[in-house]
Amino acid sequence: MNEVISPAKIPHIGFVSLGCPKALTDSELILTRLSAEGYQTSKTFAGADLVIVNTCGFIDDAVQESLDTIGEALAENGRVIVTGCLGAKAGADGTGNLVRQMHPSVLAVTGPHATQEVMDAVHLNLPKPHDPFVDLVPNAFGIAGIKLTPRHYAYLKISEGCNHRCTFCIIPSMRGDLVSRPIGEVLSEAQALFAGGVKELLVISQDTSAYGVDVKYRTGFWNGKPVKTRMLELVQALGEIAKEYGAWVRLHYVYPYPSVDEVLPLMATGLVLPYLDVPLQHSHPDVLRRMKRPASGEKNLERILRWREICPQIVIRSTFIAGFPGETEEEFEHLLDFMREAQIDRAGCFAYSAVAGAAANELPGMLPLELREERRSRFMAVAEEVSAAKLRQRVGATMQVLVDSAPGMGKKGGIGRSYADAPEIDGVVRLLPPEKISKTLKTGEFTRARIVGTQGHDLVGLPV
Ligand code: SF4
Repeated sequence: MNEVISPAKIPHIGFVSLGCPKALTDSELILTRLSAEGYQTSKTFAGADLVIVNTCGFIDDAVQESLDTIGEALAENGRVIVTGCLGAKAGADGTGNLVRQMHPSVLAVTGPHATQEVMDAVHLNLPKPHDPFVDLVPNAFGIAGIKLTPRHYAYLKISEGCNHRCTFCIIPSMRGDLVSRPIGEVLSEAQALFAGGVKELLVISQDTSAYGVDVKYRTGFWNGKPVKTRMLELVQALGEIAKEYGAWVRLHYVYPYPSVDEVLPLMATGLVLPYLDVPLQHSHPDVLRRMKRPASGEKNLERILRWREICPQIVIRSTFIAGFPGETEEEFEHLLDFMREAQIDRAGCFAYSAVAGAAANELPGMLPLELREERRSRFMAVAEEVSAAKLRQRVGATMQVLVDSAPGMGKKGGIGRSYADAPEIDGVVRLLPPEKISKTLKTGEFTRARIVGTQGHDLVGLPV
C-alpha cells in the first residue's frame, strides 16, 4: 500500500474527557474538528505531541481527579491544554485561575464549550498537518492560502494518491497510486461532521470519479447495510445523510467519465448540489493526449452538454492550462471555442510552467513565457465573459445561501454562498442588510436571498 503521508509526520493528540454528558459533547466537537483537520489521536500521553484534558469542576472528587489527570499528562508528556468546567474556576483565594495556580506550565486553559479557543491553542502549539488534499482544492495548486475552516463546512477526503500520470504533474511520484478509504469509514466521518454542525461537505480526492477502482468497487458496510465502494453509491449515501441534517454535499475533482452521468440525476433531484468541479486542463484532443489526461479520449463537450440536459441548473467549475508545450494557435483557439460552447460557469487558468521532475519538461515545443501569459489572459477574457453572463442570468432569482459571515446578526448585511460557489475558490453572495427588522443572519446557517445584482464575480442578494 502506498502511504501518502508518513505516519511519523501526522501530529498526534492525546485526549482525556472527564465529567458529564455535556462535557462529553464538547469533547466530541473538539475531536471532530481535530479529525477534520487531519490530526490523529494517541492512546498514550507519551505517544502524543500534546495532550488535551477536558475537565470537570463539579464536586471536590471531580476537581481532584481533573487536577491529578493534568498532573499525569504534564509528567508524561509536558505539553497540555486544559479545557472544561474546571478551566473556568477561580483559584482557592477567589482570584486568578485554579488550574494555572496548581499547574503553571500548562500551555493554555479555557472554560467549557470553547471548541474554537481550544482549536486556536492547538494550532498555536501544534500546527495543522500538511494535507495534500488541501493542495487539491482548485486554484490552490499547492500554493498556501487555503484554510480549512470546518466550523460550518469541511473537506472530506475519500482517497489518496492517483493512478494517472499526467505529464505536468508530480503528485503520483510523491503520493503513490490511488488508495480509496473504506466506504464505511468515509460515511461515518461524514455523519460525525454533520452531527458536529457542518452544513456543507466538500468531497475531495485526486480523482473522485475513480473512487473504489483500487479495491475493485468492493462491498463495504455502513450502518449494517452493504454499500459498494464506488462514486455513485458514495454520493447517494452522502446525499441521504446530508438530507437528515439539511446540509449540502459538493463534489470536487470529478473527471468526465461516462459513469459520472449516473450521478447527475442525484443533482437534478437536489440530493447533492448541482455543482461539479471538473479539472479539464484543455479541450484539444492532441494536447490532452500530450498531457496524458484521464478521460482524454472522451468527448468532453458532448458530455457536458448532456449533463446540462439531465440537470439544467448544474454549475461547472474547471481549471485549464494555457501554453502547454507544443500548443499551436489552432489548438489554443479550440480551447477558446470550447469555453464558449461548454459555458463553463467558473474557470481558472494557469500559464504553463515547468514543475521539477514532471515528464512534460521533456516534451518538445516549450513556448516563450510571454506567449503563455498572453494566452492565459486571452483565455481569462473569454472565461470572464461567460461567467459574467451566467451571473447576470441569476438576477431576479431567489437562492438558498449559506452564510459565511454576518457580524452583528447581519444587521449590516453579510457574506454567503449559493450552491454555485465553493468556498475559497468561487465568488460569493454579498448579502444586503435585511429589510425586515425581525430578520437576522447567522454565520453557518442558511438564508434565502433575492438576487438583485452582480458585482465582479459575485452576486448581490437581499435576504428574504
Ligand atoms: S489526475 Fe493527473 S493531475 Fe491529477 S493527480 Fe493524477 S496525475 Fe496529477
